[in-house]
Amino acid sequence: MLGLMQDWPLTVDKIADHAARWHAGREVVTRRVEDGRVERTTYGAIHTRAKQLSHALREAGIGAGDRVATLGWNTSRHMEAWYGIMGVGAVCHTLNPRLHPEQLAYIINHAEDRLVLVDLTFVPLLAAVIEHCPTVTGVVVMTDAGHMPPAEKLGKLPRAISFEDWISGRPADTPWGGFDENTACGLCYTSGTTGNPKGVLYSHRSNFIHTLLTMQADVMGASIRDTILAVVPMFHANAWGIAFSGPASGAKLVMPGARLDGASIHELLETEGVTFSAAVPTVWQGLLQHLRATHGRITTLKRVVIGGSACPESLIRTFNDDYGVEVLHAWGMTETSPLGTVGSPTPEVEALPFDQQVPWRLKQGRAPVGVELTLKDEGGRELPHDGVTPGRLMVKGAIVAAAYFRGEGGDILDGDGWFDTGDMATIDPQGFMQITDRAKDVIKSGGEWISSIDIENIAVGHPKVELAGAIGVKHPKWDERPLLLVKLLPGETATREEILSWMESRVAKWQLPDEVLFVDHIPLGATGKIDKKVLRARYQDYQLPTVGAAA
Ligand code: ADP
Repeated sequence: MLGLMQDWPLTVDKIADHAARWHAGREVVTRRVEDGRVERTTYGAIHTRAKQLSHALREAGIGAGDRVATLGWNTSRHMEAWYGIMGVGAVCHTLNPRLHPEQLAYIINHAEDRLVLVDLTFVPLLAAVIEHCPTVTGVVVMTDAGHMPPAEKLGKLPRAISFEDWISGRPADTPWGGFDENTACGLCYTSGTTGNPKGVLYSHRSNFIHTLLTMQADVMGASIRDTILAVVPMFHANAWGIAFSGPASGAKLVMPGARLDGASIHELLETEGVTFSAAVPTVWQGLLQHLRATHGRITTLKRVVIGGSACPESLIRTFNDDYGVEVLHAWGMTETSPLGTVGSPTPEVEALPFDQQVPWRLKQGRAPVGVELTLKDEGGRELPHDGVTPGRLMVKGAIVAAAYFRGEGGDILDGDGWFDTGDMATIDPQGFMQITDRAKDVIKSGGEWISSIDIENIAVGHPKVELAGAIGVKHPKWDERPLLLVKLLPGETATREEILSWMESRVAKWQLPDEVLFVDHIPLGATGKIDKKVLRARYQDYQLPTVGAAA
């Protein structure tokens, strides 16, 4: 027997409609890409302009299923583009500007993007690859006529026009929605840390459900009483859902544009009264460095979600002890829309003194309703949730990819419908999941596994260390041994002995790195995490000093 409730397709245009109807006057604040000045608009105005943009798309012949790309920072224009594209059933393809130009061209071609909406910053990048992107027939520069680059800078960009000229004077009554909730609405490629980038094709339904899921109090809990600084980019898995949960909840949104350095972030936190934010660890390390250097204060920020890569203990403690900000450690992937788990404390954990909470807060957290998690061994057998047995983390749910765009990578679900995340993890009896490593980053030493994440987090806890990367390097006796690369904070000096003796009391002896190398730069990938592929290639023939000793 079927229920007798209304069939109300879960399409994301309804989120923008809702915001315009019920939160029309709530502000969306943007740091302008053009000049860094702060400008203000509202959900009501964004809705009108998004509709005008939909009209422009229709006139350009864009309709259901067509891919329209954006190459931009978090701004109100980017939100207008996002809803204007999705509202007419086209697919908003958020391009990651941090990709190598060849990868960018590969992705544009793979997606067969028809139009690209580009921020001023990325015009040169797009101009450099456009010749190799025959499907793109038009380019919209996300600015006004007065800030359009001169013709020679636009190069061969086809029919380039400014965003403001493109939408101005158009009717704002283009119909939205009216299609199946399983219609595609967003496309985001993983950054290719495992081979060619692969497209994750979100549906209206998956994004709508993800929005409701992130609004749970123990997930992100966005509320109309919040002011959210959306640091995590819209091109990084939907800004972790914030570009949806902001308008859905009526929270005031602050979009940082092109400036993600500590000083600029701090300024917005304070001047806009931000209560909540989300970003990868490196952004927060930049903020804390700035605060230390300037003796800056944090007055309104209450909680931050940190994810994308493992959050070091030092970050959790400094935010708590020095600034009274609660860190929620979260895990997710492009393939999970992206939120998979969040480390909101249970009442039992919260009742402990903060020091004793830290081991739980360091874990990536528990699964919200709507996400199923389990651990499996290499043979596909389920493993116990005992907090010590690591296994492959498997995930299921309405917000999880069933396949990649155009079938890349073949069948990505196992026989029971689980998606293999490629992460190794434990799950404890209280349900807290902890990532031990990406399966391919684990350092395999004499049959034992060393977590590169553990080593990096401990090294970053050293007061002189800014960033640390650990990789396995070939070793004749042990197969692999850890090599630690350390970037020191500006102006600091340290010896390998100093770092190793810091680590000695914090990891088992056999897990200590065989060598510590000080470097000026640690390569970060397109989503802000340490690029282990580059590091492994760079040090593939590196001779560890312990090799002679073992021979
Ligand atoms: P990409 O793979 O394109 O770099 P994703 O954001 O999809 O971008 O990466 C997802 C991966 O990031 C996860 O599979 C996991 O390895 C890692 N990750 C995400 N959050 C965390 C976290 N809190 N701790 C450790 N690793 C994380």
